[in-house]
Amino acid sequence: MKYPKIRELKEAVISLVTPAYTTSFPRKPHIPFENYRGKPEVDDKNCVGCETCANVCPSRAITIEDDRTTGKRVITRNFGKCIFCGMCQQHCITGKGVTLSDKIFDLAVFDRNKVIEKQEKNLVICKNCNAVITTDEHIRYMHNKLGPLAFASILNLNLLNEKLELVKKEETEVEIRDGLKRKDMFNIICPNCMRSVLIQYI
Ligand code: SF4
Ligand code: SF4
Repeated sequence: MKYPKIRELKEAVISLVTPAYTTSFPRKPHIPFENYRGKPEVDDKNCVGCETCANVCPSRAITIEDDRTTGKRVITRNFGKCIFCGMCQQHCITGKGVTLSDKIFDLAVFDRNKVIEKQEKNLVICKNCNAVITTDEHIRYMHNKLGPLAFASILNLNLLNEKLELVKKEETEVEIRDGLKRKDMFNIICPNCMRSVLIQYI
């Protein structure tokens, strides 16, 4: 039998008298240190559903599904895949939609579905080609940020027009069936379709 080296004996004695580095979770709550990066917390009121965080998430923990028939966007955040890198917080366009909390041990669950969160947002859809433009909250956010400059965009003018009902609602909600016309400049259409109208008629 080999005798332990002096260094190993010293380490064994030190570890016997020093407190443990690991926490006693779940017997005692975990107390995180300052600036600990844990579970991202979503603030739905400040999240406009713009998709930026899904595009920058390196582990694809955030996914977006657009349903044109219901007009809804579903944002799914699977924290079982999250690596707590903080990219979603750093790139959030409102700066307040998602913030990394210091919670992490709360993600220890037996059922993985319990760490999946979903949000729903209303879509703005092109009335000509059915393409998704973005969410209504996203457009409103950009509008507030730009102020009067937002009306340089025809889409914004048309959305305002729809809200103020300057033109009869039936007229703006008519489906475009027979190709784009000049009148469709006053309809909710995507930038590609707007470009076609402008090229054709201006
Ligand atoms: S912290 Fe990183 S991995 Fe987690 S959801 Fe945000 S971007 Fe994705
Ligand atoms: S980047 Fe921010 S505002 Fe956009 S979807 Fe993500 S959390 Fe919401």
